[in-house]
Amino acid sequence: MTSPLMNTYPPQPVTFVRGQGSELWDVDGKRYLDFLCGLAVTGLGHAHPVVADALAEQARTLLHVSNLYGTVVGPEVAATLDRLIGGDTGKVFFANSGGEANECAIKLARKWGGRGKHVVVSAFGSFHGRTLATLHATGQPAKHETFQPLPEGFRHAAWNDLEDFERIIDPSVAAILLEPVQGEGGVQPATAEFFHGIRELCDERGLLFMVDEVQTGLGRTGEWFGFQHFGVQPDVVTMAKALGNGVPIGACWARADVADAFVPGDHATTYGGQPLAASAARAVLQVMEAEDVPARARRAGDLLQRALAEVPGVANVRGLGLLIAAELDVGIDAKQVASDALDAGLVVNAVTTTALRIAPSLLVSDDEIDEGVAILTKVLS
Ligand code: PLP
Repeated sequence: MTSPLMNTYPPQPVTFVRGQGSELWDVDGKRYLDFLCGLAVTGLGHAHPVVADALAEQARTLLHVSNLYGTVVGPEVAATLDRLIGGDTGKVFFANSGGEANECAIKLARKWGGRGKHVVVSAFGSFHGRTLATLHATGQPAKHETFQPLPEGFRHAAWNDLEDFERIIDPSVAAILLEPVQGEGGVQPATAEFFHGIRELCDERGLLFMVDEVQTGLGRTGEWFGFQHFGVQPDVVTMAKALGNGVPIGACWARADVADAFVPGDHATTYGGQPLAASAARAVLQVMEAEDVPARARRAGDLLQRALAEVPGVANVRGLGLLIAAELDVGIDAKQVASDALDAGLVVNAVTTTALRIAPSLLVSDDEIDEGVAILTKVLS
C-alpha cells in the first residue's frame, strides 16, 4: 500500500505504539531500549506520570484561547526559563518547534539591527531548521540547492574557527548564531576558546550572540544550557525539543533590551505558549529541577561515554553529557549498525555515515546503560 504521508522520510523500519521511561514497544509487542529519545526530545523518558497528569488536567481545564488573551501557565514557564538561563531580566517568545524558535531569533536580530544590519552568520556543519530562513542559516550547502533561491541575509564561517568568523563580519551583520554542540552536524562540541572569542567579537562589533539550544538545552549536556559549559552569556537563546518532552513547544529567550526591539505586530503565532503545551513545559521543568537533570546527565554521560569507548568497533567517543557520538572503526557503516541495533532492540541513529548518535533519557538508569552497551557490543561483534 502506498503511504498517505508525503515522501519526506525514508521508509520507517518500525511502528511504535507505547513507551514507558526508556522503553518502547512496537505494534508486534517487541520491546526496545530507547537511546535516541525521538531525537533528543523525551529527556524525561516516555509517559512521564507528572507530565501526563499535567496534560490531562490542562486538557480538562483550558486548551487554547490564542495570544490575544492572557493565560497563566506560559508566563510562569518563561520566568523559569529566564532563571535557568541566568539572564534574570530576559523575555521569552513561545513557538511550536525549534525551527520556529530560530525564526523568531532571526527576525528579532533583523529588527534589533535595523535596515542594512540584518545578516546572520552561522557555522558550516550547523543545523538550525527546515523553514526557508533556518534552512539558509543551516550551514550545510548540500541541503540548500534544491530550494534556491533562499532568503537573503545568511553567511557561514568555519566551525570553531574564530578567525574565519572575524573575517566574515562586516557592518551588515546583526548576529552570530551557533550551537554549543553541533547536533545534526555529527555531535561536534564547540571549544571554550571559540565561544569566548565569539562573545568578545560580538561585544567589539556590536552584534548579538545567539545560541541555538534546541538540541542541547535543558540538561542534556550536563548543564541547563550548553553555553553554560563555556562561562559566556549569550544575548539570545533558542530551545525546543526537551522543553515539552514530546509536546510541541519552542521558545526564544532574549536579553530584555534586545527583546524590546519587538513591538506588537512584529511577530506572532496562533498556538505559541498555549496552555496545553505550556503546562507540559511547566511539568517538565518542575521534574527536571527536582531531579537535577544536569547533574544526572553529567554522571550518566560520563558512565556511558566511558563504557562506549570500550566497545570493540568504536574508535572514539565525543559529546557532552548525554549528547554523544560513537565514531566507528574505519569501514563500519553507521547506518547498518543503527539498523542492526534496532533489530536487536536498541534505538540509536547514524548521525553521520561513520558515527552513531546516542542520546538516552536524562533519567536513564545504570542498568539501562549496561543493557544498551551490551546490545551495541553484540551488534558490533
Ligand atoms: N536547531 C537545532 C540545533 C536542531 O537540532 C533542530 C532539530 O534537530 C532544529 C533547530 C529544528 O528543530 P525543529 O525540527 O523542531 O524545527
